Amino acid sequence: MSSTTTTTTNNTGTVILGAGIIGVSTAYYLSLSSPQSSSSSEIHLIDPSPTLFWSASGFAGGFLARNWFAPEVSSLGALSFAEHARLASAHDGRRNWSYAPSTSLGYSAVAADKGVKKRGDDWLRSGTSRAEAAPGDQKQKVPVLSVEDLNQKTPAWLRRREGDDVEVIGGEGDAAQLEPERLCRFLLEEAEGRGVKVSKGTEAVEVLRDGEGVVSGVVVRDVKTGEEREVQCSRIIITAGCWSGQVWEKLFGATSETVKRLPVTSLAGYSLVVKSPRWAGAVDGEGCHAVYTSHAFCPEIFSRVGGQIYFAGLNSAAMPLPNVAEGSKVPTEPMQLVKQAARELLGSGKDGEDDLEVVREGLCFRPVTPWGLPIVARVPDEHLGGGIRTSPGAEGGVFLATGHGPWGISMSLGTGIVMSELESRSCRCCSTVLQAVMNSFEDSRRAAGFSRRLLSGR
Ligand SMILES: Cc1cc2nc3c(=O)[nH]c(=O)nc-3n(C[C@H](O)[C@H](O)[C@H](O)COP(=O)(O)OP(=O)(O)OC[C@H]3O[C@@H](n4cnc5c(N)ncnc54)[C@H](O)[C@@H]3O)c2cc1C
Repeated sequence: MSSTTTTTTNNTGTVILGAGIIGVSTAYYLSLSSPQSSSSSEIHLIDPSPTLFWSASGFAGGFLARNWFAPEVSSLGALSFAEHARLASAHDGRRNWSYAPSTSLGYSAVAADKGVKKRGDDWLRSGTSRAEAAPGDQKQKVPVLSVEDLNQKTPAWLRRREGDDVEVIGGEGDAAQLEPERLCRFLLEEAEGRGVKVSKGTEAVEVLRDGEGVVSGVVVRDVKTGEEREVQCSRIIITAGCWSGQVWEKLFGATSETVKRLPVTSLAGYSLVVKSPRWAGAVDGEGCHAVYTSHAFCPEIFSRVGGQIYFAGLNSAAMPLPNVAEGSKVPTEPMQLVKQAARELLGSGKDGEDDLEVVREGLCFRPVTPWGLPIVARVPDEHLGGGIRTSPGAEGGVFLATGHGPWGISMSLGTGIVMSELESRSCRCCSTVLQAVMNSFEDSRRAAGFSRRLLSGR
């Protein structure tokens, strides 16, 4: 695959590659901050999947935390959490994407080695609970005195057994929930309404540059027909989740001498959405719970505003990433484990019959980095290789916004805001990750130079 060709067109448009929640959030905030007055400043959102949100962004739980994050990304997490609340209030998020404050409980799930310095998502890799990420000072150990006491402290849809431990991990000011696919659709529709051009079933296969080597567009190909066309732009933003490495390799793999591969891999997760006769939905937006259990594979369970219950927690690093997000087949065996755990934890009818109604089964892939932190940054031109350059400052650039792991929904809006600023410097909270990315590059001498410039904002 050739990586560049030439064109003479001048423009300040943006191409966003990947329409999961990070891509649509970026498109949304970019379209707010830079109205597309002419064809030369268009924003394009490009995704090879014929159906959007058949990825982690469509199948995720939608749990949002204010401060459950590693220090390096705490400001991004807090910015996002506040923006989720603002957006929901401005656009009736409760009705449109089931946004609601949430009380988080640990159910027989107490983190063992508190105080040990951990990555932001150690709990995910070791097959334990997300509850381990919650700040210790927020947890109030609640002693369970009696069955009545337990009944008061736990939601009615959760199995209750005398002797179970219940821990309040976060109150309603610290956590919230939403339906990720519906938020994605809202962001997409708003962005389209402001002129963002969406191309499904399409992938970028080549970078265009002008006579001086400056990025001026991409060649995109229809994945079904193979038909190609040029899209003019001065900025390229890679937001392709687990597929970001493939996008990088296709566009810059042949030219870049320093970045042959992006350190983004995938971690598969199974999920189940059910209805239970014991959960009719939140009254006045209140009453939603996020429950983290230590049962079996440490399921996480969210009761949603509209009366559904989301159940997940079984992960697999061995499950290979499909070529296209759409149509990932859910294997029967692991799904049976999830269903069995759901039956055990969500209870059954009076005569012990299974009274849960399965609404949907899901398998999707989180984009993870070796550091458990996302990469939100501009790539300095020297790492594009082949003499490729980008317009300086806010006029151009190649950007990465990927690797959000288990927190992509929570951090989506903050990431979109950061990307919409499109300045030559990177998100401050991600510079630590970038430093690590750089250190992993083959040429450590150049990498060190890159990191220094990055951190000094040049
Ligand atoms: C079971 C599960 C539960 C989760 N629950 C939560 C939760 O409660 N809270 C939370 O904050 N996070 C949660 N997450 C994590 C969250 O879902 C992800 O971090 C987030 O969705 C990642 O978004 P993304 O846009 O980067 O990637 P994706 O949603 O994977 O989107 C990537 C997009 O890139 C496209 N693409 C593929 N190839 C190309 C290409 N060549 N060119 C362009 N585009 C391409 C894909 O088609 C896709 O549309 C969960 C994840 C899982 C698996």
